[in-house]
Amino acid sequence: MTDRSLDQPTYYAATANRQVATSDVSTVPDKVDVCVIGAGFTGLSAALELTLKGRTVAVFDSGPIGWGATGRNGGQICTGYSPGMEGFEKQLGFDDARICFDVAEQGKRLIEARIEAHGIDCDLVWGFLHAAARPSHMTGLAEHMKELEKFGVDSCSLLSSEELAQKLGSKAYHGALLERDAGHFHSLNYALGLADAVIANGGRIFENTTVASVEGGSSPSLKLQSGKSVACDQLVVACNAYLGELVPGLNHRVMPVASYVVATEPLGAERAGNLIRDNEAVCDSNYVVDYFRLTGDDRLLFGGRCSYSGIHPRDLGASMRPRVLRIFPQLVDVKMQYAWGGHIGITHNRLPNMGRSDGSIYYAHGFSGQGVVLAGMLGKILADAICGDTDQFDVFARIRHLPFPGGVLRRPALTLGMLYYRIKDLLS
Ligand SMILES: Cc1cc2nc3c(=O)[nH]c(=O)nc-3n(C[C@H](O)[C@H](O)[C@H](O)COP(=O)(O)OP(=O)(O)OC[C@H]3O[C@@H](n4cnc5c(N)ncnc54)[C@H](O)[C@@H]3O)c2cc1C
Repeated sequence: MTDRSLDQPTYYAATANRQVATSDVSTVPDKVDVCVIGAGFTGLSAALELTLKGRTVAVFDSGPIGWGATGRNGGQICTGYSPGMEGFEKQLGFDDARICFDVAEQGKRLIEARIEAHGIDCDLVWGFLHAAARPSHMTGLAEHMKELEKFGVDSCSLLSSEELAQKLGSKAYHGALLERDAGHFHSLNYALGLADAVIANGGRIFENTTVASVEGGSSPSLKLQSGKSVACDQLVVACNAYLGELVPGLNHRVMPVASYVVATEPLGAERAGNLIRDNEAVCDSNYVVDYFRLTGDDRLLFGGRCSYSGIHPRDLGASMRPRVLRIFPQLVDVKMQYAWGGHIGITHNRLPNMGRSDGSIYYAHGFSGQGVVLAGMLGKILADAICGDTDQFDVFARIRHLPFPGGVLRRPALTLGMLYYRIKDLLS
């Protein structure tokens, strides 16, 4: 799916700190060990791991590196999975649910290790606040902290509304859960750093090169829109919400949901510091969340809203402005310099969907709004599985996923679901 209606310039692209030496499409090889489709966190992470393990790899993306959600997100490095751990425990039991939780924790360490190993400059900051949008939401945040403790996280604490007032220049919240081991970064610069590392290790990346079809089975290959075919031993499909109809049977498990982000003009260090004094990432406690953070150049980057309908606001900046001012009315004089949107890939149960199809097609998608950590980690697990280590892959591949309704019912069913959550936010 190439939805160009959300192609507005992003803060990330405007502040990308390097050009990557990608390959010209005229040099696409006839055969590699592994073809990767999608140059976002999933695809780049799989590609990097595969090249480090000595495989020849070609990565294809229909846009530039990070064109999908990877170069459009809130940059929030979250803990665990968006629906919590209950779904894992019900399906897999505690021990395997624990493996899945640990995978998410390892994902954070993988980000740190790659930043260090490949010298990636991407403004990494630790610290995360889950802010209570209503006084009653503190109960849910306390339960969330208990669940994190059950899975071994001991770096969280609850903040009263007075304590939160010391940290946030907003009267909109009623306390918070502070997580010290979650945070934020410049996601496109991190992705570009991964891409550089892929190339430095012998991988090839082809931007603006759409894959038109794939073949699995015992002679896997892909065909580019140009008509050129590339043979391989395995394919990695890392297209997430942008998958479209590329692999029959996979797209009914992932649904694209649009979310929108704005970045203000630079505020200056003092004014920015008065909004979020200790520079944490912030996410509120509603079902339809607002999430925000400061950038390395002292802007407020603020995301929120969701559209399941495929229809986007005509003026994204104007539509997001009231949400920003509701939290920070002191920014009334500030310009929203960038406004853009992107597609989150959600699954029915909000757990990621990873597996193998037709023998040689490996896929991971449906991170349901928390892919900054998970996509990179599951991309690595795909690469491990291709190289013969299937321990973590096998656990995720056991998770059952219901399909979304197809055909004409697909969008209306989700729009109704969304309405339900909006009403829940209003009533809770
Ligand atoms: C607005 C927004 C805010 C978000 N905020 C956060 C956040 O703060 N924290 C968090 O954890 N997660 C967040 N997410 C989710 C997170 O960004 C994603 O889960 C993650 O980036 C997914 O990475 P990916 O590599 O799987 O997919 P993507 O980055 O979407 O990459 C898929 C790529 O596949 C390519 N592609 C598709 N079809 C083809 C084809 N036929 N041929 C070639 N290429 C193709 C696309 O061009 C695209 O570049 C957000 C997402 C959005 C949209």
